Amino acid sequence: MNIILFGPPGAGKGTQADNIVKSFKLHKVSTGDLLRDEISKKTEIGNKIKDKIEKGSFVSDEVINDLIKKVLSDKKYNNRLVFDGYPRNLLQAKNLDLLIDKYNQKISCVISLNVDKEILVKRILGRQICAKCGLIFNEYFKPSNENNHSCEKKFLLKRSDDTKETVLKRYKTYIDKTLPILNHYKRLNLLHEIEGKTGIDEIFDKITHIIASLEAWLCKPSLYKYRN
Ligand SMILES: [Zn+2]
Repeated sequence: MNIILFGPPGAGKGTQADNIVKSFKLHKVSTGDLLRDEISKKTEIGNKIKDKIEKGSFVSDEVINDLIKKVLSDKKYNNRLVFDGYPRNLLQAKNLDLLIDKYNQKISCVISLNVDKEILVKRILGRQICAKCGLIFNEYFKPSNENNHSCEKKFLLKRSDDTKETVLKRYKTYIDKTLPILNHYKRLNLLHEIEGKTGIDEIFDKITHIIASLEAWLCKPSLYKYRN
């Protein structure tokens, strides 16, 4: 099965993608990783994009599409992919549809983690790390206290230089870009939305439930005719 995962910055999408990969023995596709891989291997694409990335400019959809095509045409990943942070716009999504068809695969489900923006702000701005022992806290959700932490308060450092404005701006950018893609998958009846304000384990339970129900259908094709 191929799965696409969406979630705003701070929603824990990366962690969930790793969980899915481990539990269902799938392969994660992140365009950031693919780009870094090309650069480190000094491939033709890698050399082309190296300058762009160093200058901080965006890599074109065309390059991204080529990289995705490479993954989808690789037999060892056939129908075993989790897309994390891709597609990033509607054009990329439509291109993915074409490639999926071309390589005779299918998108099994699209999972979107929905988290209220005020919660995201607190998650990102409240994050603290202890410089002495490395434990991670959150001043709103998991504050350091004498029961969970023995170091002095002065060692607690904020991990983020973000302000509320930058977090909200990133969130808005994400929503503006992602909504058309989610609507696209909604029309294709593939979208599952999960309330992402609960803990990592609860969210993963919900994801597992969705994937397991898909697997059940995949394993019992005879039941399929009763579905519609
Ligand atoms: Zn500590």
